[in-house]
Amino acid sequence: MKLPSLNTQIVTAAILGIVLGLWLGRLTPGSTAQEAALYASTMVGGVFIGLLKMVLIPLVFTSIVVGVANLQAHRQIHKVWMTTLAFFGISMALAVLLALVATNVFKPGAGMHLGMFADAMQNFHSEQLTVSEFFSKFLLGLFQNPFAALAQGNVLAVVIFAFIVGIALVVGGERYRNILNLMQEAFDLIMMIVGWIMRLAPLGIMALLARLVATQDTGLFASMGEFMLLVVGITLVHGVIVLPGMLYMVTRVTPWQFCKGAREALVTAFATSSSSATMPVTIRCTEQHLKVRREIAGFVIPLGATVNMDGTALYEASAALFIANLVGIELNLVQQLIVFFMAMLASLGAPGIPSAGMVTMVMVLQSVGLPAEAIAILLPIDRLLDTIRTSVNVEGDMVGSLIVQEIVSSSDTNPVIGR
Ligand code: ASP
Repeated sequence: MKLPSLNTQIVTAAILGIVLGLWLGRLTPGSTAQEAALYASTMVGGVFIGLLKMVLIPLVFTSIVVGVANLQAHRQIHKVWMTTLAFFGISMALAVLLALVATNVFKPGAGMHLGMFADAMQNFHSEQLTVSEFFSKFLLGLFQNPFAALAQGNVLAVVIFAFIVGIALVVGGERYRNILNLMQEAFDLIMMIVGWIMRLAPLGIMALLARLVATQDTGLFASMGEFMLLVVGITLVHGVIVLPGMLYMVTRVTPWQFCKGAREALVTAFATSSSSATMPVTIRCTEQHLKVRREIAGFVIPLGATVNMDGTALYEASAALFIANLVGIELNLVQQLIVFFMAMLASLGAPGIPSAGMVTMVMVLQSVGLPAEAIAILLPIDRLLDTIRTSVNVEGDMVGSLIVQEIVSSSDTNPVIGR
């Protein structure tokens, strides 16, 4: 019997996972059946994420080295670098702007009683993080002993080291040809392993979603429903209208063509809530389905997975305004501008792991004098919202690769020779 395509399997598995999760959540809490099912889903989902993480660091390292070396050899690195940063900046700014406008219009949380959250806030002690501390932590984290960074999975430090090695390989020229070839082959080899891991994706995604849905406290929806709906709404507007609109304007790639090529990565991001864990799948989709050249995808995706987070940025901005409404503080224009920049900065510093945005959120709240403890209110709903904002984070990286490729090639008189 011929199996349906991997894309179809993944989407079907995601739907089945959600249905299974709803059913599991209705079983008697603590019953053997529920415990066994939750245990099984934790194990299967855990193995899937574990496998993705296993290939992540070697993949980031080789893809950046190869990407940078090839771009540099064709004198394109400067243009790719500038276009990538410009795209990241513009798309994140649009996301935050959308969040601020929508939250000001709909005013979620206004008129709600903070009293009901007082307990949650009292029991929560957040790690205080000032802007200068954040900066130094972020900046110093960029430069690390490469072996420690590789071993600890510090993606950003690996990106920086790989970037420097890529440039050195070009400056060194013929002398280091073998190392560059080795890197190219290592990259191909890891991508082959990613292909194998993807065969497990339907099962892994089903397990992850079943567990997530089954363990959610649905009672919270009533009190936080309005805010959750708003966040989901603006995230969708950004993911379904703004990003595809930018993509179509620059590249003429239609949303449908994009969606077909990006689906595997979007669903994996939804189920894992981690841009980093999804990155092997994102690179695969961008190169193999969306046909972005290796040297561009290999550079934009690993960088984007750690710094370009539209979904996180818009969430942080609207959450800050929501908290302000809850505690009854009216933020003026200057304060909202501060939120605008801090939300971008905070998403830039958030690593691509589940609920990472919650940690950097403290900084956004404190920048305008809101209580950091208010995070306790957001934590219970965070895992659910994390699914869709991570998908949009990953979508932004793929859209960025296509746009950068288009801009760089259209102004290029000396095109990069294809693979
Ligand atoms: N989970 C998000 C990601 O990996 C980060 C966050 O917003 O928490 O992209």
